[in-house]
Amino acid sequence: MKHFPIFMALEGRRVVVSGGGEAALAKLRLLLKTEANLTVVASDPAPEIVTWAAEGRLTLIARAMEAGDAVCARLFYAANEDDAEDARVADLANREGALVNIVDNLEDSQFITPAMVDRDPVVVAIGTEGAAPVLARAIKKDIEERLSPRLGLMARIGKAFRTKAEALPFGVKRREFWAEYYAKDIATSEDAETTLDALLDKHLSAHAKEGRVELVGAGPGDPELLTLKARKALDEADVVIYDRLVAPEILELARREAIMLSAGKEGFGPSVTQDAINEMIVSHARNGSHVVRLKSGDPTVFGRLDEEIEACEASGVAWSIVPGITSASAAVAALGQSFTKRGRNSGVRFITGHDTKGFADHDWKTLARAGEVAAIYMGKKSARFIQGRLLMHGADALTQVTVIENASRPDQRILATTLGELEPTLTQANLTGPALVFLGLAPRAALNAAQQHELETAI
Ligand code: SAH
Repeated sequence: MKHFPIFMALEGRRVVVSGGGEAALAKLRLLLKTEANLTVVASDPAPEIVTWAAEGRLTLIARAMEAGDAVCARLFYAANEDDAEDARVADLANREGALVNIVDNLEDSQFITPAMVDRDPVVVAIGTEGAAPVLARAIKKDIEERLSPRLGLMARIGKAFRTKAEALPFGVKRREFWAEYYAKDIATSEDAETTLDALLDKHLSAHAKEGRVELVGAGPGDPELLTLKARKALDEADVVIYDRLVAPEILELARREAIMLSAGKEGFGPSVTQDAINEMIVSHARNGSHVVRLKSGDPTVFGRLDEEIEACEASGVAWSIVPGITSASAAVAALGQSFTKRGRNSGVRFITGHDTKGFADHDWKTLARAGEVAAIYMGKKSARFIQGRLLMHGADALTQVTVIENASRPDQRILATTLGELEPTLTQANLTGPALVFLGLAPRAALNAAQQHELETAI
């Protein structure tokens, strides 16, 4: 490509044409469509040029070009149809800093004017680098026939409507709206606004009717630990699919008309298969429902979130995640403790007691080190296994361990113990609610008296 196509801003800029005959007229007809500040320098201007000058559409300097005539000009056309004169004026304009075109002289021109299809503000420029003017004309004719004569009008109306169209979400939805607007060629100037309003309404309601899935964290149990976003999702949901661990007080917050469906599983429990849950989520969303998939704590923590997201994606269902407070955060707050502490631990692990294959394996050697802090989810059944593994890897039997059942709920219980005593303490406590085992954390001293009481009543 020897010539790079650009669209130049000419509004209020000086453009000078030297010449007053046919070649100059052809260029002027094009240039008059722009908002450039036009000057014609011609000793013998055609009558059209004189008229345009009289109408104030251009400035006419009725003499041969002189030095200084092209000062501050952005573009200059040498259109005298006389090689020697064109070379002279081009040289003058060039010195004065203008970009120069010599009509019908590709070789000595700094720019060329393309063939144009004008549907202002839509302009198609066709260039063949002078190689095939006939071809350029054929292409122009072809495009002229293809583009609606009203395209420019439509584009102008569309431009004025852009702010309103922002009611549709950016991306596919908005593109579909504009595609339909332009494809249907529906704008006629008077009722354009009404037509567009109707089309926008159609797209907005189609969008509203489209199902979607929000994967929402219900927090650890206390309704006050719900995020505002989770509250909003529950307010608006058509269908709520909840895990067994989600507190009943939270389910009460759902919109009264919402269909409430239990996914009936606790953590990694088996009751309803994951496939069945995926199917439930996707089928409701596909029917146009706003589905809230409510998970305890934070949905991204041991929540089998990815499987549900993948199911949504496989079915082309829109989804989003609303994070929640994970139960470990509520539990550590109940201990009056902090997960990390300068000089004690620079990291904390969230681990699971068991996974789909049974008791989960971990880096026991690291976990057994003094000062390590870990929150063990689903750790009740695997407590003896974890205890055995840690002791085997050299953990101190006096390492502090705390079990928090029903964190943030009215029936919250805290059992302060040690690794050596974790079992049988846990079994004897006979916990019935969800519980977390904290390795390396004890309740803060100020809380200890209450803990002691809990411990005694628990055992
Ligand atoms: N996504 C959840 C965890 C799901 S796995 C979260 O972020 O909290 C289920 C495990 O979470 C339970 O076995 C239990 O270990 C823990 N859990 C959930 N709610 C709890 C609560 N209120 N108190 C203590 N542990 C809880």
